[in-house]
Amino acid sequence: AYPSVAFIGLGNMGGPMAANLVQAGVQVSGFDLSADAVQTARSKGIEIVTDPLEAVARSEVVLTMLPSGKHVLAAYRDTPGLLAAARPGTIFLDCSTINISEAQEAAQLAERAGFRAADAPVSGGVVGAEAGSLAFMAGGSREVFDAILPLLEIMGGRIVHCGGNGLGQAAKLCNNMILGVTQIAVGEAFVLGERLGLSHQALYDVVSNASGQCWALTTNCPVPGPVPTSPANRGFTPGFAGALMAKDLTLASNALDEQGVDAQLGRLAAAIFSEFAAGPGERQDFSAIINTIRDNSDD
Ligand code: NAD
Repeated sequence: AYPSVAFIGLGNMGGPMAANLVQAGVQVSGFDLSADAVQTARSKGIEIVTDPLEAVARSEVVLTMLPSGKHVLAAYRDTPGLLAAARPGTIFLDCSTINISEAQEAAQLAERAGFRAADAPVSGGVVGAEAGSLAFMAGGSREVFDAILPLLEIMGGRIVHCGGNGLGQAAKLCNNMILGVTQIAVGEAFVLGERLGLSHQALYDVVSNASGQCWALTTNCPVPGPVPTSPANRGFTPGFAGALMAKDLTLASNALDEQGVDAQLGRLAAAIFSEFAAGPGERQDFSAIINTIRDNSDD
């Protein structure tokens, strides 16, 4: 039998993730502060509790899927104070994307209170959450990883144990830093190619088979045509929204600061996408950064 789950945070990601657990036969007690999220979750068959502490007290795993690290730490510690309500042996599993240092702090809080903890942030977006095909990057002891693996396998496809607490977040943020930088680089190359009279298709045919080959080009190609499924072919509806890329790069940039790493491109990508997400880019696929590059280029 699967461990029972208190699922805290039933938003765009948490709602469908919890629904997949229920479908697989996991005993889930769901909670969210938002009436809309609760209503949607109920319609998907998730049992809703009005007191999150009650959900925690009757579950073996407390899974949080919340907007930020502030929310996770507050929920653990003060409001509503999930740690104080848990029974012995509980595993605190945070799947939100938060600062690496906050993930480590959350795990420490749980461990000091006598519980076990893991971070397991995801990629794959709402589509992956609904399909149960998320990628999970997990941080925590091997023993905790083994205990949560059956749950992750219901919600996910590719699952990697990355090391100790916080290292799931670390792996996710390192990946997204590469992605942010390469999507800008691909956009810059296409705009330069346009200026030089190089067709999109010719540039694509060369680079996709050469050393510039990368996901930002071969899956998320920022011009319509060469990759018919990329967001550029549908007016840049996400995909992966600019707001989320800006968030993840800010978290990566915080980690760069904390570790004192001389990563100029990572920091620049964080600044570029933060500005992008402050405008219409917030809701566009992040590959629409190519439009900003065009707009900011000389006439
Ligand atoms: P969301 O805003 O849709 O959902 C978050 C939910 O948490 C909301 O329903 C909110 O009411 C609830 N909430 C906030 N504080 C709470 C509390 N104390 N108790 C109970 N509920 C509370 O966000 P989302 O898109 O589901 O994202 C969740 C996390 O997943 C974020 O950390 C995000 O960065 C990460 N993520 C999102 C995506 C994506 O494509 N949306 C992809 C990968 C990772």
